[in-house]
Amino acid sequence: MTYQVDGRKTVGANERAAAATAAGALAAALGLPVGPHQEVAALIEAVRQVRAATPAQRPARLGILHDLAAAAPLHLVAAPLAADLRTMLADPRPDDRQTFLQRGRELADGSGWEAECECPQDGPCFCGRRREEVPDHLVAQ
Ligand SMILES: [Zn+2]
Repeated sequence: MTYQVDGRKTVGANERAAAATAAGALAAALGLPVGPHQEVAALIEAVRQVRAATPAQRPARLGILHDLAAAAPLHLVAAPLAADLRTMLADPRPDDRQTFLQRGRELADGSGWEAECECPQDGPCFCGRRREEVPDHLVAQ
């Protein structure tokens, strides 16, 4: 049996919290600063989660990895993992808005018929059906 997980709803926050808690307890016992070691443990767990992600989960998990890496003290990350991390973070943070909109279209339209966007091509899309990537300033909020 295979479960398809919504890519926008990552599983794994509990695992990151557990890794951070364990690392924090160990750091406290060793007299090391707790916060930075908790952040690095959560980051390392996020790397594992990106490696283990299904294609549907990967964009959201990569997004979380980008967020954690931006805040974590990267000088505490071991060299081999730091190299992997640089590779994973080489691309810009994934934007899964199109995936989200496509899923909403599929759920909302049981007929399978898909209407085309009829909004002006040189202006913002108000219907959410436009396919190509559009700069953020042209997307209706
Ligand atoms: Zn439109």
